[in-house]
Amino acid sequence: MTFEEAALCETLSKNVSKSGYVKPTPVQKHGISIISAGRDLMACAQTGSGKTAAFLLPILQQLMVDGVAASQFSEIQEPEVVIVAPTRELINQIFLEARKFAHGTCVRPVVVYGGVSTGYQIREISRGCNLLCGTPGRLLDVIGRGKVGLSKVRYLVLDEADRMLDMGFEPDMRRLVTSPGMPSKENRQTLMFSATYPEDIQKMAADFLKSDYLFLA
Ligand code: AMP
Repeated sequence: MTFEEAALCETLSKNVSKSGYVKPTPVQKHGISIISAGRDLMACAQTGSGKTAAFLLPILQQLMVDGVAASQFSEIQEPEVVIVAPTRELINQIFLEARKFAHGTCVRPVVVYGGVSTGYQIREISRGCNLLCGTPGRLLDVIGRGKVGLSKVRYLVLDEADRMLDMGFEPDMRRLVTSPGMPSKENRQTLMFSATYPEDIQKMAADFLKSDYLFLA
């Protein structure tokens, strides 16, 4: 599959070209078709493999096809996409890539992470947020404060799942998927990325993904 064959809408195609991406990496080649087909995915992929675009592009493309409402100011936002990663650096990279690809569309990505005050992040959320990126604890924080509703989540992405476990985030991840409003795994598309595939990640994949999920290594 090439980027042309991914049949991205004009704005997304333009943003991909502007990024200088010409040829999809292997995880993009396979991941984009699996995600576009609506399947849940467990992918073993390292940082540097191009995994961020592999999940962002098909998600953004589907949002474009279905039509997203323009972001509006509201005290409570209901994102269609929630992306979780273990560290501030990683989630910020994902957010910047999402902002780059979503440029010129109605999708407004917002990022939240710990270690800084929540005030600015909450104001950014209330300005409109259809794609929310966050570290686990801060995500639960803004959800718990009633700033984010989860009932419209269509895509849940868990990146660097093995590092999240190593860093002790398993309870937070389990709390997130069982938070009030979060659609069940049957009613959302879940994508997990991990550099390694030990038993505890296999167990998490079985718990979080639909039973017919695809495995990509
Ligand atoms: P990631 O694994 O998603 O963190 O991506 C690693 C780096 O590769 C990032 O700096 C991306 O901007 C870059 N990248 C991702 N996909 C491509 C591609 N198809 N062609 C060229 N560079 C890419």
